[in-house]
Amino acid sequence: MTSPPAPAEQPHPITGEPFASPVPPGTGWPEDPAAPDTPVARTAADVVRLAGEAAGDLAELEARQSVCRACPRLVAWREEVAATGRRSYAGQPYWGRPVPGWGDAAPWLLVVGLAPAAHGGNRTGRVFTGDRSGDWIFGALHRAGLGGQAESVHAGDGLKLDGARIAAAVRCAPPANKPTPLERDTCAPWLDREVRAIEGSLEVMLALGAFAWDAALACARRLGWTVPAPRPRFGHGAATSLARPGGAPVWLLGSYHVSQQNTFTGKLTEPMLDAVLGSAAELRRSR
Ligand code: SF4
Repeated sequence: MTSPPAPAEQPHPITGEPFASPVPPGTGWPEDPAAPDTPVARTAADVVRLAGEAAGDLAELEARQSVCRACPRLVAWREEVAATGRRSYAGQPYWGRPVPGWGDAAPWLLVVGLAPAAHGGNRTGRVFTGDRSGDWIFGALHRAGLGGQAESVHAGDGLKLDGARIAAAVRCAPPANKPTPLERDTCAPWLDREVRAIEGSLEVMLALGAFAWDAALACARRLGWTVPAPRPRFGHGAATSLARPGGAPVWLLGSYHVSQQNTFTGKLTEPMLDAVLGSAAELRRSR
């Protein structure tokens, strides 16, 4: 007979296993990439070092991303949200840790978002999973043939991406969805190393919103890719080619973010999002 969870623990919605909030690394949360002894970055310099050491090892990179504590304000916020939760998710444990990149390990498409949502990725542990924004992007990826199912409800729900990967420019949920410039810059090495690890297969980066667009351009520059001058401006449907030394160029494509602010108001519609993913496939063919 299974013993009831301790009071501080709540059952995972899919597995029923009890977890504290935030979830300790390597304790059985579905898709948790970390182990109890995964090295923890506590400063910006640690992020640079630990991301660099994991270069070329995507699984280790994801693990190290998922335990990072380099931004004090964001660590405090994500853990406070995890500890208090939201009434509509009462009884659920919250991940409460950085949300690592997720999806195909050799993708042709990398979707770049801003940061996890407090009650979305910060609750489920998977990027864009568990909120309305995720319904939009995963629905579109499914219609484009890149996702095995249209819904992404929780880590461990069986969803797989084929040819696509999703990462956030900032890996921790920020208050009011607004990371500071210092937090953006502190987190950037995680994105740099992730893009470096997949650049052999990468053909198109899709930036959701201006923040992700700028983060992708900055990442490209740091990786030594050639960014056109003047700097390409973000827009829905904007596209620019980024030259890579010794490799085929990578396209950067822009889309309005799948935030409720955009989807509720009709600024972004499903046909618009589908068209952007259609453009991504066309750009891929044009390389
Ligand atoms: S935002 Fe990035 S660098 Fe800062 S604590 Fe989270 S994972 Fe670490």
